[in-house]
Amino acid sequence: MESLEDLLGKTVDNCPCGRPHRIPTREAHLQPGSLQRLPEMAERLLAPGTLLCVADTNTWAAAGERAAEMLRENGKTVDVHFVDRRTQPAHADRETVDTLAAAIRRTRAAAVVAVGSGTINDVAKSAATLVERPLVTVATAASMNGYPSAISALTVDGVKTTEPCRPPVGIVADPEILATAPGRMTGAGFGDLLSKNASTADWMVSHALDGEYYCSFSAAVAEEAVNRCIENAGAIRENRVEGLGILAEGLLRSGVSMVIAGSSAPASGGEHLISHLWDMTAHWSGRKPALHGEQTGVTTLISLKLYEKILALDAATLRKRLRERPAESPAAFTNRMRDLFRDIAESILPFARQKYLDGPALQERRKRILARWEKVRRAVASVAIPAETSRAHLESAGAVSRAADLGISHAELVFAYRNARWIRNRYTVLDLVDELGVLEEWQEEVLAGV
Ligand SMILES: [Zn+2]
Ligand SMILES: [Zn+2]
Repeated sequence: MESLEDLLGKTVDNCPCGRPHRIPTREAHLQPGSLQRLPEMAERLLAPGTLLCVADTNTWAAAGERAAEMLRENGKTVDVHFVDRRTQPAHADRETVDTLAAAIRRTRAAAVVAVGSGTINDVAKSAATLVERPLVTVATAASMNGYPSAISALTVDGVKTTEPCRPPVGIVADPEILATAPGRMTGAGFGDLLSKNASTADWMVSHALDGEYYCSFSAAVAEEAVNRCIENAGAIRENRVEGLGILAEGLLRSGVSMVIAGSSAPASGGEHLISHLWDMTAHWSGRKPALHGEQTGVTTLISLKLYEKILALDAATLRKRLRERPAESPAAFTNRMRDLFRDIAESILPFARQKYLDGPALQERRKRILARWEKVRRAVASVAIPAETSRAHLESAGAVSRAADLGISHAELVFAYRNARWIRNRYTVLDLVDELGVLEEWQEEVLAGV
């Protein structure tokens, strides 16, 4: 497998999946001290003119001030925009994106330099795309895999949504800076990366069952790097510079795998849907949401437990459950969705309806599941690992491995387990288990200890 350096800027025209791939991010610097390379990188990758440095109060102290200083010393004109002027901390929402886009226009900036992690990365990618300016990102935490991805996650009217955007042309992920981030953020990055064990299984299941597009090159790009992170969990737990370098490489490769696939499928399955729904239920109840990667590390255990049970399911039980599963009328289904999702039901329904089946379509679906069951089983067996192995990895890396440690109540856990499948049209293990008619039956055993 190619090094990260070789992958960046690459065009692949002869992939076995049949689609061409292009990775727009041209450079990434992951060596200790690589912040110093920012000015020469800006010179190479960005048009001449004013640079708008985007930060919040914390990331300004962590790296933003130094980054702006270095750029100025190298003859650049630098303006600064703080995303947390309006709310502290800043939210990745439409208003924050529009405010930044207006600042880019007002300062006539030729390019954007984003200094931060999750929120700043999402906001800067969306705003830079909106006003068509190139973006360079300086990572301040190894907390998630979205740095090089072509999607940004925004909360719009209380609903977590994703929108397409242009990835940054260059990324600096200096492990000396990443090591100064709170340990929880590093644990979150490890948790986000580890969810690959579940999301890849989901991706392969939807390929085996429904012929969904799948690219083995994309799936392979992050695989070795995930294993290297697991082997170096101790250095990651201790927030050591060498551990942070290895984690940053894993996260960037995971982000690149999404760019190759043209969707988040290689790194986001049912475990991510449960996490997104927790963000929404946190919003409803006024609870402070936990970090994305902390959540996906925990929810990966749910998906992996479901896969263990799927592998243990015998053909006779499978037939019986499929036959016994009661049908629901379209009106009853719509009412159920409205009861479940209340204020956001109208935003969820277009996705949920794509997964709803009745009458002959439901019969056909059951036949298809039975006909392709061996293929599905083989796909799962080739990638899924035991949930307890994954829990041990999380614990070795000092990442959270229980929902209660994230402030998530048992009621929220159950609600998201049962209903997360409806919030997106992506097919995941949650859909498969519900289609088999065992989602509720398995609930207690699957959620025990999560
Ligand atoms: Zn491919
Ligand atoms: Zn993620």
